[in-house]
Amino acid sequence: MIVAIDGPAATGKSTSAKLVAHKLGFTYLDTGAMYRCVTLSVLRHDIDLSDSAVLAKLLSDTHIEFGQKNGDVSVSLNGENVSREIRQAEVTNHVSAVSALASVREALVRIQRQIAANQDCVLEGRDIGTIVFPDADIKFFLIADDRVRAERRQLDLNALGENKSIEALMDEIRRRDKLDSERDHSPLRKADDAVEVDTTQLTINEQVDFMVNKVKSLTIGN
Ligand code: C5P
Repeated sequence: MIVAIDGPAATGKSTSAKLVAHKLGFTYLDTGAMYRCVTLSVLRHDIDLSDSAVLAKLLSDTHIEFGQKNGDVSVSLNGENVSREIRQAEVTNHVSAVSALASVREALVRIQRQIAANQDCVLEGRDIGTIVFPDADIKFFLIADDRVRAERRQLDLNALGENKSIEALMDEIRRRDKLDSERDHSPLRKADDAVEVDTTQLTINEQVDFMVNKVKSLTIGN
């Protein structure tokens, strides 16, 4: 079974998708982390994004793996744990430009489909219900008020030892959503058959329970 969870930045996708997967006993795949890993690699190697040959080589040399320990998901890039680095501001500021490239998307979508091919999976991202798995068993599209999203992002950044004003974070989130929604390849968009969940007033537990109950109602044929 495939559960697709899409939506704009900081709507609670990662936290709730991880818990939904845990409660259902499904594999969790954070596709945003994959785009962040490629972005980290692009920045580290100072890659010119217009040089398609260099980018193709970088993609073929990029190996991303997910690990799980005590309920925490870690991401490694070519064997190095980069779970913290990929959340830093520099990566966040460049990820939309990198993920707009067709070659990057093709490479990562292929891997996402392979991972989810033979197992029950909760995939979280921007294009899961529209492009990666248009026939997913169930699709959710999470949205939330801009200020609430900025407040959530501020808490995440504080945990990384970074600090930014709510106004600056609202600008950043809106800028990233605009880039993600207006790009040519696989823009962020709600699939017609996705269930929209407004998480503005919901706790993480409420979001999770709502989604888990919906999935369970499918499996028992309601
Ligand atoms: O979800 P997260 O904020 O980590 O995603 C980082 C970025 O990766 C998004 O802003 C978007 O540019 C890109 N992304 C994407 N398609 C996905 C997941 C993420 O383009 N399926």
